[in-house]
Amino acid sequence: MNKTLFENGLIITVDDRDSVYRRGYLLVEDDRIAAVGEGDYTGDRTGIAVVDADGKAVLPGIVDAHTHVAGSLFKGLLEDDPNGFYGFALPMEGQLTPEDVYHLSRLGAWECMQAGVTTINEIYHYVLSVAKAVDEVGLRAVISQNIVDVDIGALRYNDYTRYPAKGEAFVEDNIRLIEEYHGKDNGRITCRFGPHATDTVSMELAKKCAELGKKHGVGFHTHVAQSQREVALLKEAYGLTPVEFLRETGLLGDHLMAAHCIYTTPGDVELLAKSGTHLLHCTEGLGRNGDFPPMKEMFAAGVHVVLGTDWLTMDPWTNMRFGVALNRHHGVDYETASARGMLRRSTIEPARALGLGDKVGSLEAGKQADVILMDITGPNLTPMFHDPVVTLVYNACRRDVSDVMVAGKFTVRDRALQTVDVKEVMKNGQKVAYDVYGRHVATLS
Ligand SMILES: [Zn+2]
Repeated sequence: MNKTLFENGLIITVDDRDSVYRRGYLLVEDDRIAAVGEGDYTGDRTGIAVVDADGKAVLPGIVDAHTHVAGSLFKGLLEDDPNGFYGFALPMEGQLTPEDVYHLSRLGAWECMQAGVTTINEIYHYVLSVAKAVDEVGLRAVISQNIVDVDIGALRYNDYTRYPAKGEAFVEDNIRLIEEYHGKDNGRITCRFGPHATDTVSMELAKKCAELGKKHGVGFHTHVAQSQREVALLKEAYGLTPVEFLRETGLLGDHLMAAHCIYTTPGDVELLAKSGTHLLHCTEGLGRNGDFPPMKEMFAAGVHVVLGTDWLTMDPWTNMRFGVALNRHHGVDYETASARGMLRRSTIEPARALGLGDKVGSLEAGKQADVILMDITGPNLTPMFHDPVVTLVYNACRRDVSDVMVAGKFTVRDRALQTVDVKEVMKNGQKVAYDVYGRHVATLS
């Protein structure tokens, strides 16, 4: 049995009582947490590798509820372009090959892991390439295929012509993903169905996804009410709001991870709350776009809100701060939009939403050892008074993360990636990004 003992660390458990031990220990046996507590570990030390965590905070790995890891490709291309999503990003995605997605996903997976993310809820194109990359980098992941029955490149012209054969092919890709990856490596990788968004799948295709999810015993991941044109399209086609559309298809419920939900009505908010659907709130990305769901109403109605980073910048720490700032700006009370609240919505709450609450999201004996260490000796985290969670959430930077462990194995040690050759990840990621950009720009001229 492999045993690792972290001692002398500031242990932030994110358990139900939010227990924090100013000087404590965490014992890992194989892939699991065997013990966690205050003070010194007094058990037998035979055969234990000891890590002195003095000057470090020890936390559960972050669970990022909504990612497209290959989407780090678009960094610096979309942030200041009001029509960037439909006008630039989706057509540029049309240039991607499976090989491109593989290299870009390795780059994005490393970005996530470097920031202390250990679990991602991921949905993208060429998902077998994504799964391979994410698996190699060593993240825990829940993965879905982007299923659409439109030509995403044509969406810039507001052309929503349906191509049923295209939808079928993506469904087949999602089934292949489930067959190859669901439950892989003792459940480190699991899968869902990914009807992409309420405007990019037809009612028939969305219903088919719902049926297949039931058949395969897996949940769903989608985008909801991202734009006003999406709302207008569904109103015209079906006389429904995006959330009502999801109810009609059978997708709404606690098996659904629903990103964004920006343009929602009071009735939609009620439906989301009553159905137990999980709202994936991507605060930094939405903040940049100037978009914001009716969060005061969402929280008041009891919608289960968890945080995701989406793409471009996959930094859970800045995302938590956007979560506090934007929610308070929109009238959400201080306690709900607090450091503690945002940390919980970035760890244990998304873990529960994904059905992984008994496995990850907090440091408790019996759970999987998904653990991060953060250097707390820098000036940004000094001084640290009686509530380290507040100091940490308002001031931590992703480069403060020094070590990452997933299922009891170090994937990052002293800031160095242990799983794959990081130079190769960076070189290929950069090269592929420039190539894809060049091919896309050539289509515009
Ligand atoms: Zn997204």
